[in-house]
Amino acid sequence: MAAAAQDGGNLANVHHILLVLSGKGGVGKSTIATQIALALRLAGKKVGILDVDLCGPSIPRMLNAMNKEVHQCDGGWVPVYVDQEKTISLMSIGFLLEKPDDAVVWRGPKKNAMINQFVNDVAWGELDFLIVDTPPGTSDEHISTVNALQPYNPMGAVLVTTPQAVAVGDVRRELTFCKKVGLPVVGIVENMSGFVCPTCSECTNIFSKGGGEELARHSGVPFLGCVPLDPQLTLSMEYGKDFLREFPQSPAYPALTSIARFI
Ligand code: ADP
Repeated sequence: MAAAAQDGGNLANVHHILLVLSGKGGVGKSTIATQIALALRLAGKKVGILDVDLCGPSIPRMLNAMNKEVHQCDGGWVPVYVDQEKTISLMSIGFLLEKPDDAVVWRGPKKNAMINQFVNDVAWGELDFLIVDTPPGTSDEHISTVNALQPYNPMGAVLVTTPQAVAVGDVRRELTFCKKVGLPVVGIVENMSGFVCPTCSECTNIFSKGGGEELARHSGVPFLGCVPLDPQLTLSMEYGKDFLREFPQSPAYPALTSIARFI
């Protein structure tokens, strides 16, 4: 579904807007959001990432863009281009903090104003996809994000969970949230789903397996795949490496690229 080209706003030439949600922190939401963006780029798409995780902006580090700066132009903020080809652009609160370790200690109205600015005042130009990384849970910030994006008709949300029941239970609440705010669910990703031993190839289900898939089946939403735990992925996110280009043999590669194909 294309974003509505309304009154020449900054999202008018963004063709698809996808939100990435999770019930809990630490389940790999930002990792999956980043990898979806990189996989779409690998497929030849022009992609923007909007990091509205105001209290935990991790995407600048994941894309090795920590020291970059945001500039102003007539149309608003110019997003940071993270690659030389200018196929991935990023906007994050991380670029607006004086020091990387500064904490955002804001009450709701200030956070909501920032989200509105992020949605309306970033000069993205033409994009095939805008991936929106949200904070964990369902908070005021989610309602503000969905409300601000609604005029542009977002295609929906990808929900990220780990396999165990305690995380899956939180994703149920995300499903209810999406229903309440009228946001279509594109599908569920089960992340950290097993660990494949690099020497013997045996898979150990460290956080159990299948919870996300079962929830997708019960809820009648698409299941987008199981992404295994992969130390190369952890390190790539830590040091801002382009995981999909550098580690095509890695066990997480097939799932990540097939999620992007589904989208
Ligand atoms: P969230 O956004 O849900 O808080 P992150 O994306 O920041 O979670 O991920 C938390 C940590 O787990 C990061 O260090 C990240 O690199 C790591 N991680 C996420 N998914 C995987 C995976 N499939 N394999 C290995 N490490 C992962």
